[in-house]
Amino acid sequence: MTDFTAFGLHKKIAANIHKQGYRRPTPIQAQAIPAVLSGRDVLGLAQTGTGKTAAFALPLLQGLVDRRNRAPRALIVAPTRELAEQINTDIRGYAAGTGLKTLAVYGGVGKYPQVKKLRAGVDIVIACPGRLLDLMNERAVDLSAVTTLILDEADHMFDMGFLPGIRRIVRALPAKRQNLLFSATMPGEIRHLADDILVRPKVIEIAHKRPKSSVSELLFRVEPEHKTRLLKDILATTEIRAALIFTRTKHKAKSLAAQLQRSGHAATALHGNLSQHQRQQALRGFKSGRFTLMVATDIAARGIDVSGITHVINYDAPATVEAYTHRVGRTGRAERSGEAFTFAGRADGKIITQIERRNGKK
Ligand code: AMP
Repeated sequence: MTDFTAFGLHKKIAANIHKQGYRRPTPIQAQAIPAVLSGRDVLGLAQTGTGKTAAFALPLLQGLVDRRNRAPRALIVAPTRELAEQINTDIRGYAAGTGLKTLAVYGGVGKYPQVKKLRAGVDIVIACPGRLLDLMNERAVDLSAVTTLILDEADHMFDMGFLPGIRRIVRALPAKRQNLLFSATMPGEIRHLADDILVRPKVIEIAHKRPKSSVSELLFRVEPEHKTRLLKDILATTEIRAALIFTRTKHKAKSLAAQLQRSGHAATALHGNLSQHQRQQALRGFKSGRFTLMVATDIAARGIDVSGITHVINYDAPATVEAYTHRVGRTGRAERSGEAFTFAGRADGKIITQIERRNGKK
């Protein structure tokens, strides 16, 4: 497959993806688009950064375009508000000019504007489980016309305790529908969920076990009391366009960002103690380049796609190999290259060994 024309996409959609600068489908797109177009269920083992949003969104839009309906026909469930917003933004870009309406539905913001938009008619709902269940309980959302269900980052939904909620949502949908499930990893619980929901799915596995080769990974041996000094030295001597810095705790994310600001860096923080408005402001500022540094916790940074992140810095070593993969996956996206620095002291020996084993190199 050399370009997108082979998929026979609607001409507005084709023009939109051309405008985004996409020339060739990524591997997951090359496999998923024809499968989804043919109506099959899909199990996609891939993380963000592989182009999976377009892999499900383009064929979804193709199936919805030119057919009007008031109640939503597609439901996309995502674990975090940031991911829901990002999917919404991506889909709006792909759907521009088609008249298809999308709505992101999540908590932490007023419910009424969402209810009003749902009443006015929406084609695609992108939802976080909590708020969606809330709206379902209040009968503010009509899921009776849903023909496509997409579960994105299913492993994170499991990590965050959303699986019982997901099962309740699924039970409320019409039985006859297409199902797509994406997950970077396959813990047993997700395997069960996939077995329960998907019907003879096409399984697409995109090398998800290691970060993409466009990312170079560097380990710094440093004890906790010297980390901030080291970080400042790196920031002073490295050409960094945009860096995502990970800390273990919300408190540390906040204090480190403040410290960096005091030493003259354009830094912001993203963590779970912020209001939805503050989170959006931080993310928007980072995306626009107003902040070059964003200090974040794992949960807050899950799935975020900011193009042009040149560096990921693990100020605190990640707790698991999976978390490492996700963090490092924030850079080097879509064929760009990036650098990942990990600070580790004596106490981090075990996780570093695991990462090295997974990477197959020291
Ligand atoms: P995702 O995995 O969906 O988060 O996508 C990762 C990044 O790749 C996003 O910034 C997309 O805009 C970009 N992208 C997706 N598909 C393509 C493509 N075919 N060509 C170039 N960039 C793409």
